[in-house]
Amino acid sequence: MESKVVGRFAPSPTGRMHAGNIYAALVAWLVAKSQGGDIVLRIEDLDRERSKPRFIDAVQRDFEMLGLTWDRGPFFQHDRDDAYAEAFRTLADKGLVYPCYCTRADLHAASAPHRGEKLVYPGTCRHLSAEERTAREASGRKPASRLMVDDEEISFLDAVQGRYTQNLERDCGDFLIRRSDQAFAYQLAVVVDDAAQGVTSVVRGVDLLCSTPQQIYLQNLLGLPHPEYAHIPLLVAEENRRLSKRDHDASLETLLARFKTPEAILGHIAGITGLAPTCDPASADELLSCFSLDALHGRIQVKWE
Ligand code: GLU
Repeated sequence: MESKVVGRFAPSPTGRMHAGNIYAALVAWLVAKSQGGDIVLRIEDLDRERSKPRFIDAVQRDFEMLGLTWDRGPFFQHDRDDAYAEAFRTLADKGLVYPCYCTRADLHAASAPHRGEKLVYPGTCRHLSAEERTAREASGRKPASRLMVDDEEISFLDAVQGRYTQNLERDCGDFLIRRSDQAFAYQLAVVVDDAAQGVTSVVRGVDLLCSTPQQIYLQNLLGLPHPEYAHIPLLVAEENRRLSKRDHDASLETLLARFKTPEAILGHIAGITGLAPTCDPASADELLSCFSLDALHGRIQVKWE
């Protein structure tokens, strides 16, 4: 018997929802529900400074209002430090973790990425001598922790973007699994949580496509299963600039003022992204009847209008 599909909503509670978040949640919901699956709600509040309790409540109310239901959760990343610490120890026991003293400024000075390009860590702290390490420790600043990668191709078949391959050494470099403020890094937390919450289907914006090989690498090291991935086009305000919480015309409040009903908002988003043939109002349930990922294939952006 095929096991049940489990999708997820994974909002970061750093602001109110906007059209891009609604679109990602809608597709996650449609992918899971079209296969008789469940949705898990996980609040990604790793960043304690930027996560605000009022947004945690608001995001849940917003999903409910939009008819984007979840079956399990909410789970909170702030409750999960023990699980992240255990995964961290497993990686450290393999001899793959080292302290990194580089500041953001050091990293940018070492390799200035072109706009939109990922910064490749040059391995500075991996190669420190014992004396250099002691000197850096003397500064009193707590180091971050990086995971060593090797010269290995990681490849997977994305349900929207097709085959995607990265050589972690060349395209990414050793990456952070714990920040210098000692918070566990997104890549580690998301992999541990997806596995613990039984997530089999990850739907998210194509801006995270380049993170997925890191997550697959972590799953391999930790002996965790690989979910199916679908990286959907980004809604953009203008070419190459994704909608953000600053684009007030795409915020949920403005959308409600403009479209009046949740169905009209969902129908508009479904229409402009090609999920539905028209922009007519439609509930999430109604959108299920015509749902297919085909219309999204290979696209990386959709102009918000
Ligand atoms: N929390 C992230 C966001 O709101 C999503 C991370 C993920 O889907 O892996 O953009």
